[in-house]
This record gives sequence, C-alpha cells and structure tokens, in this order.
Amino acid sequence: MAAVATPNELNVYESAEARFEVAADKLGLEEGLYKYLKYPNKEITVYIPVALDNGHFEVFVGYRVHHSIVRGPCKGGIRFAPDVTLDEIRALAAWMTWKCAVVNIPFGGAKGGVICDPSKLSNGELERITRRYTAELTEWIGPERDVPAPDLGTNEQTMAWVMDTYSMHVRHTTTAVVTGKPLDLGGSHGRKEATGRGVMISCDKALTKLGVKRDGCRVIIQGFGNVGSVSALLMHRAGYKIVGVADIHGGLYNEKGFNVPALLDWVYAQGKPLPEFPAGGTKLSAQEVLFQTCDILVPAAVENQITSQNARRVQARILCEGANGPTTAPADAILEQKGVFVIPDILGNAGGVTVSYFEWVQDRQGFFWREGEVNERLQDVMEHSFDEVVRYAEAHGVNNRIAAYMLAIDRVAFALKLRGIYA
Ligand code: GLU
Repeated sequence: MAAVATPNELNVYESAEARFEVAADKLGLEEGLYKYLKYPNKEITVYIPVALDNGHFEVFVGYRVHHSIVRGPCKGGIRFAPDVTLDEIRALAAWMTWKCAVVNIPFGGAKGGVICDPSKLSNGELERITRRYTAELTEWIGPERDVPAPDLGTNEQTMAWVMDTYSMHVRHTTTAVVTGKPLDLGGSHGRKEATGRGVMISCDKALTKLGVKRDGCRVIIQGFGNVGSVSALLMHRAGYKIVGVADIHGGLYNEKGFNVPALLDWVYAQGKPLPEFPAGGTKLSAQEVLFQTCDILVPAAVENQITSQNARRVQARILCEGANGPTTAPADAILEQKGVFVIPDILGNAGGVTVSYFEWVQDRQGFFWREGEVNERLQDVMEHSFDEVVRYAEAHGVNNRIAAYMLAIDRVAFALKLRGIYA
C-alpha cells in the first residue's frame, strides 16, 4: 500500500516556512530581520453573523492576515472555501509578500478567507457574508492600508460588494480599495486574464531558456477555474497543445490535444461537467492527470498536489505553478533531483497581482489604460522577473524556488533596514 504523506508536509504554513528558512539561511539574514519577516504583522478573526435565505442565522468565521507592510500597503486575495484555516491564510499572506517583492511592485502581503462553501450558498447569502466581513474590516483595509482581490471562491462581483460596502462606510466611492473589480467599476482591462497570461509568459520564457519549441509543446493543466481555463485558452491559441485538463469533477487526458474553445463552451456556456466533454479523452482523477506524459505541467487548482509521495511520478520537463502552494516543501528536492525546471508560484502566478497593481494605479489616477498597454506592461514585468530569478538561481547555485525566495527576502529586508524599526 502506498505510504500516506505526513501531516506536517500538508501544512502549508510549514511548507512556506521551510522555504523561507532555507532562503534566509543562504542569504545569511541576521537574526532580528529573520524574526521580523518570519511572523505576520497582524491577524484578525471575525465572526460573521448572516441571515440565511431560510430565515435562520448562521455565524461564519473569517480571517484577514497582514504579513508585511514594509514595501507598501498589504495586498492579497480573499478566499471563500470550506477548508480555510488560519494557518493557510498566514502562509498565503506571507507568499503575497514574497510574490510582490519578486515582481518588484510596491506592496506588502496579506490574505483573507471565510470558511464557507460558495457552491451551497445563494447569491444573496454570499453578498451578506461579503458585506459583513468587509464592514468588520473597515479599519483594516483601504487603498493605503490593505487592498484585497479575488482568490478561490470569490470573483469580480464579490469585489464590487467589497468596494461598495467600504465606500458606504467611508462615505465616498473608493474604487482603489480592492482590485479584480468589474471593468465598469474601476476594474482594469486584462485583470481577469492576467494570472493565466503570466503563466503563459513564464512558460514561454522557460522554453526559450531550455531551447524547446513552443509549437506542439504538450501541456497538462490541473484546475479549470479562472487561472486554469485562461491559461488553457491563451496557450492553446499560442500553439501549445493542451493534452490534459482537470477540475473538481475529474480529469481528462488526450495526447492529440483538446479543442480548448469547445471545452470552455462545454464547461462555462453549457454548465456541463468537464470529464463528460464529448470530444474528450481518457477519464482520470484530477490527481492522476498530473502524472501523465507532457512537457509542461501547470497545477492551477489548490495546494498540496505534488508531494513527497508522488513527485517522482511527474513526467514534465517544466512545472509552472498557477496555484499557490501546489508543491510541498519535501517534494522540492525530488523535483530538483529529477531535473524538473520549476517556475515557483511566487513567480509563475504573479501576473494576477501585477495587473492588480496596475488596476490600483489606474484607480488612483482616474485614468485607464488600453488592454494592449496592460498586457505589454505585464509581459515586461513577468519577463524581467523571470530573468532575475533564473540569474539569482545560477549565481547562488540554488533552485528557482529558493532563488525567488532569496530575491524577495533580500528586497524586503533591504527596505526594512532603510525604514528602521519604529519604537
Ligand atoms: N489571489 C491572487 C494571488 O494569490 C491575486 C492577489 C491580488 O491580486 O492581490 O496572487
């Protein structure tokens, strides 16, 4: 029988900490700075009373963690999911700090979450949860304090509710309090596609680095939400061959490649389960799809998919992390041994927060950019950051993930030294 992964391996906070420790050690980070950056700045738990449609009250538990404000206001998504924990939100907040530093945008890191299952709640219930959660956080968030965005289980509509609730409390419309808003409410062109576009740009760069052609390059994408589906569509259009896909209902593998626009129509326009796609291939579980033959693997769903128990089975040459934390810390060494070229989450999925930054800039200026301008600037940031991480890895003889952490920690620590500690 296959051994079961140890519980600690699956604690994302410990996974994040393990990488932080290795990187901090390689950097020779002084003890005081190490302690400062290891712990979050602030954490809040909110109990959110909500009237359900059936007339009863329920109390939902929500969190917001500010990891760092050293390089600017906190930035990071809000997730609605049944398995949200404070430890997970802490890890995700720290990842936002490092992610913003890797792409060198002037934000710190934060994350929020509410324990709830959006698939079991009505629109009205979701709106009431969002509004009460936001109201409880009025003093914590703001364009200069902490700027939330969408994450798992939340979307443009959720952000519109956050924006409206915050604006009602401060008595003026404040679009820059959240990003990932609808276009008509101060959203940015290209924000919805940004994470997927960033994934593709990172993959393009990795192929150039490894001297592999893009046309016909086989890609498996796990997850068919915003990040997975946009990555699939953009990469399909660019000439990649999408041979594996998966969502919560299961996975499909087809070595001939999928007609991605037809698959999107099936899942999104017709609302059908992905594994039932008529022109599909072999049905597999969403986990099993990760281990099929391909050149590039894009886990774009949830955490802890590639672990010490299965990393040996990854066949891809390139792993580009569209999700946050899809690979556990013990799996890193196995991937390294196998020679997999890893584009870590804090680089690979940073396209989303990069365009969030553009959205925040546009909201504050009251001047909006064309889609082409947004995409061009995103490309520039992603390509430059990719080059910096790879250069760092080569200069320090470490893998790309540790290089990305080192680059990020170094930037935050440098800013912290310049600011000094207020006492
Ligand atoms: N939730 C996304 C992430 O994890 C986006 C965050 C943002 O745009 O602030 O990167």
